[in-house]
Amino acid sequence: METFRAHILTPLSSDLRHRTSDSAVRRVHRAPSLSKGELRTRDDIDRAWADWPDGRLDVEDGQIRSVGPWRRTSPYTDLRPHLVIPGLVDVHAHVPQLPVCGVHPDNLLDWLQKWTFPLEARFRGARARTLSASFIREMLGHGTTTAALYTSAWPDSVEACFAAAREAGIHAWIGPPLMDVDTYRPVTTRRVLDEARHLSRLDSPRLRFAVTPRFALSCSMDLLCGAGDLAREFNLPIQTHLAEQQAECREVRRRFRRSYLHVYERAGLVGHQSLFAHAIWLTDADWARLSTAAIAHCPTSNVFLGSGVMDWWRAQSARVGLGSDVGAGPDLSIFRVARTAWTVHSLAGAAPNAADLLRAATLGGAAALGFDSVGSLEAGKSADFVVLDAARVIPRGAPDVESTEDLLSRILHRAGRSSISHVYVGGRLVVDNVALRSNG
Ligand SMILES: [Zn+2]
Repeated sequence: METFRAHILTPLSSDLRHRTSDSAVRRVHRAPSLSKGELRTRDDIDRAWADWPDGRLDVEDGQIRSVGPWRRTSPYTDLRPHLVIPGLVDVHAHVPQLPVCGVHPDNLLDWLQKWTFPLEARFRGARARTLSASFIREMLGHGTTTAALYTSAWPDSVEACFAAAREAGIHAWIGPPLMDVDTYRPVTTRRVLDEARHLSRLDSPRLRFAVTPRFALSCSMDLLCGAGDLAREFNLPIQTHLAEQQAECREVRRRFRRSYLHVYERAGLVGHQSLFAHAIWLTDADWARLSTAAIAHCPTSNVFLGSGVMDWWRAQSARVGLGSDVGAGPDLSIFRVARTAWTVHSLAGAAPNAADLLRAATLGGAAALGFDSVGSLEAGKSADFVVLDAARVIPRGAPDVESTEDLLSRILHRAGRSSISHVYVGGRLVVDNVALRSNG
């Protein structure tokens, strides 16, 4: 067993919150009241974080054995005065698109044709193996230890990404963007579905094969329906894009003669294992029908491509995680995504607080992906955690931290890649930027 001593902060799953009487468990309530009438969220009150300024984390066989206030033991790894938080969760990113980050913003449909499809078309073979491994390393460097990923449409890029994810020990959803319209390789609908069916053998509890129709405009109705059938037959998760830009929505209605969400419903793609990225241009009725699904909120991407502002408060009726949406997002930093969410929703009238956003960045993302074993620091979960350099978050001369909420606010607004000193996945040190001290 390995013991760590540090300032430990974690959101808590509701079941543990009800069992604990620990005084370190603070209720951090959302700041503004719900802005849209009577809409209630699935976990309105479930906003608890644990905060142990002198905490102890015991790890055995890759799992958290216990976590709580410090008790004497030896030996232990002394991480004080640094902060330990759960590994971050990125619920929407495109592995082949990392090199295109920051390249000239355009509207979505032109950006795809000009920049991303040519890059994805080359993402196969040795190139896919090398770039998948470097993508996962880059992700870990940003403190992300769980993710939902799109590969390229080439089947061997899926195998490359599974291999890189397995090597790193992370939890992930991985799937190839299914396309039979305007695609960058010659295919038939049947071939796309046969390939996906064959790749579904890679599905496992830790690394899920995700059925991934790219978006409605990349797919015929036959492909969408076939994707829905495949997900149902093998009990696979589904990820896709939904209502990202207005011009896209208009084109979906013109082509399919129904609303965007209705197209997916008709294909059997909307359910409790479905994850929709963006979800900006939706009606109240759409939101009501999405209550069993999960949403990937991608504000950095939405700003970059001028897509619009998702309704954060409406979305709380579903499970919401945060997505970098690389390469429309500028990098793989989920801290940046959370901060951008705070900014856009502040300007829109009501920002979620730091506790809500950092919860979405960790436990909320894990719930969106249906992974019970990650997202928070609780006994029995995978020992996936990030060590933040306290001096980078709270610089010398800063006012004393007043409360857990205050500390979470400073993390939200200041943390980033440069403040990450270590990252652990399954108890294994995978990012090591500062020498560790061992006591005992
Ligand atoms: Zn995307």
